[in-house]
Parts: sequence; structure tokens; C-alpha cells
Amino acid sequence: MKDVYTYQIGQNLYINLTNRCTNRCTFCVRNGKETYEGYPLWLHGGEGTVEQIAAEIGDPTRYEEIVFCGFGEPTCRLEDMFALCDIIHARGGRTRVNTNGHASLIAGEDVAPRFLGKLDGVNISLNAPTEAEYDALCRPLIPNAFQGMLAFARACKACGVCAWFSVVDCIGKEKIAACRRIAEEVGIPLRVRALIE
Ligand code: SF4
Repeated sequence: MKDVYTYQIGQNLYINLTNRCTNRCTFCVRNGKETYEGYPLWLHGGEGTVEQIAAEIGDPTRYEEIVFCGFGEPTCRLEDMFALCDIIHARGGRTRVNTNGHASLIAGEDVAPRFLGKLDGVNISLNAPTEAEYDALCRPLIPNAFQGMLAFARACKACGVCAWFSVVDCIGKEKIAACRRIAEEVGIPLRVRALIE
């Protein structure tokens, strides 16, 4: 079966850049599944190249947004994601990434300023209001994941990157309220979405 590097849902085209991730979230859509929305997103033959993915995207203006979001964390391939952003923008498209916010932890330096002009939207999964709850829910594979994610969000805000936090509605009203306080403190919006199962 051919590996799926890009897949369409609604008006958006999604890019399945990698299966690598720095979290092992208990709620991850990958858990125990081969497909998402009918698309087999495990990359059995390896990750797609920038050239392969750019060819699949074609004319990005056919879609509302090109979204980096698949069975893995897109910022594990930061340079390739940025290269694709340049291609998409050159063809007149819009870009967004759904991220766990670990980009700077993965890169070992503050990379938030590099998102400016590359990603038109940066959706950072906040997931939980405290480090202990985050660690229990997201089971990070790297140290300092929660604080690193918050630092990345603050850095995005500081350099003018359009970023927001997201949480799923099933965490409950109290936790959503606590997450809202974090978002207000960081100075970016909080978006509450339904859990995808
Ligand atoms: S950060 Fe995203 S891809 Fe990674 S384990 Fe969590 S839900 Fe899955």
C-alpha cells in the first residue's frame, strides 16, 4: 500500500510529515489504529521527501489551509516543514501547524522566531494546566516538556507568530478554566475543541 503523505479533510489538505513524536499521549489518534478518517497514516516505507510532498500538494489555493498534522509531530522535521512552507507560500497557499510545542526542545535552541513568515497559524496543544497532569496525559519522551512547550508559546507571542493553545473539551470545565488562565498569562488565545477518537 502506498504511504500517505497528504490527505484531504473538508477544505484543508493535511501533511503527514513524520511518525516521530516526543510525546506518547494517552489520547493520541494513533494509538492502536492504522488509519485516521480512512487514511493509513503509518509510514511503512519511510517519510516523504520535500519534493514528493510538494508534488502532491500541487496548487495549494485549492484548499483553505495546508495543515502540518499527521501521525506524528511535524516539528521533528523542522527544516523540511519550513521548506514546504516556502513552497506553499510561493504558490499562494496558507499554512498551519498543529504541534505539541516541543520544536525548541527538539532543536536545542529557540526556533520560535523562525516560524514567523513560514506558518500562518501555530496551534499548540496545551492539553493540561499543570506539569504533573501534562506528564500523566502526554507521557513525554523528553525532559522539561511542559515548561518547554510554554516557553515556546511565550516565544511565539514575543516575536509576533500567530499562535494559540488548544485543549480538548473532555478535560472538564475546571481544567479548561485553568488552561484559560495560562493562555491569558502567556497572552495567546485558547481554543477548546472536541476530542477526536
Ligand atoms: S503530541 Fe500529537 S502525535 Fe504526539 S503522541 Fe500526542 S497526540 Fe500523538
